[in-house]
Amino acid sequence: MSFKTESGRLAAFRKAALLFGLIMIAAFAVTACKGEPAANDIVTPTKASTSTPIAQPSDVFANTPTGQITGTPTVPTEQVTPTAPATDTPTPTAKPTPTRVPAATPTPTPTLTPEPTGGQAQNGKLVVIDAGHQRKGNNEKEPDGPGSTTMKAKVSSGTTGHFTGIPEYELNLIVSKKLETILLARGYRVIMVRDTHDVNISNSERAEIANKAGANAFVRIHANAHDNSDVNGAETLCQTKNNPYNGNLYAKSRKLSETVLDAICAECGCKKRSVVETDTMSGINWCQVPVTIVEMGFMTNEKEDRLMATEEYRDKLAKAIADGIDAYFAD
Ligand SMILES: [Zn+2]
Repeated sequence: MSFKTESGRLAAFRKAALLFGLIMIAAFAVTACKGEPAANDIVTPTKASTSTPIAQPSDVFANTPTGQITGTPTVPTEQVTPTAPATDTPTPTAKPTPTRVPAATPTPTPTLTPEPTGGQAQNGKLVVIDAGHQRKGNNEKEPDGPGSTTMKAKVSSGTTGHFTGIPEYELNLIVSKKLETILLARGYRVIMVRDTHDVNISNSERAEIANKAGANAFVRIHANAHDNSDVNGAETLCQTKNNPYNGNLYAKSRKLSETVLDAICAECGCKKRSVVETDTMSGINWCQVPVTIVEMGFMTNEKEDRLMATEEYRDKLAKAIADGIDAYFAD
């Protein structure tokens, strides 16, 4: 009985000890959990665990489980993702972009200012060649000079060969391209205002191309027309010395006009009309560089119209204009 009692007490003690042990383990577990949230509050590690024991565990158990369960898949993903983007972000698709944006701003300018085609042994001179007119004229108006109230058509389609039917804009571009080839071979840098008929560039815009490029000479290639079919010969045009926009460039433009006209008449044997000084041409008034308009001959005159339709005469015209440009820069 006493044994039973003793063993009964022992069993009771064991139970109590086991219960105590379980309690202690449970208590330890709670304390261990407290440590985690405390660790998050880096500022108040020890004190927090003491001052807010109950609140923290409850918060922890409320947040942690939820956060871990839903979060676990999400969090790792976010953690990985942020790390990855962080690497991507530096690689910065963003950094190259800003470089492209500013680069894009100057791009519009190149549209109006074609890149010069470089010659082999360059002589340092830049010639801008404007093949007059274009396939479709533009009758919209523009001031005939900077700040002028006089309005003129932006650009016409020009005249037509009365005997050959060749449009002036075609003849102008053919001779202009020949001139370009010759000038490049002679070491000039050349900018062509147009190299196709399907453009829409006003006369003031053509002048602006030469201005922006800083042309040493702006040569505008045209052919003439007259009501009287007997009228023939070559002439060139420039501003007067009193031109309100660029009278300061009169001497240079006049000289360029003279050298080119002289060369054409010498090479082609055509009649030398004159250098016409006028302040009514938009393509001259907008110029801030030496300029000449070359009227190669009359498309209303049968002889000249037919001559200008031949490769031989076109070659002569191009060579002559190049010679005139050479002479302009000679001294
Ligand atoms: Zn013309």
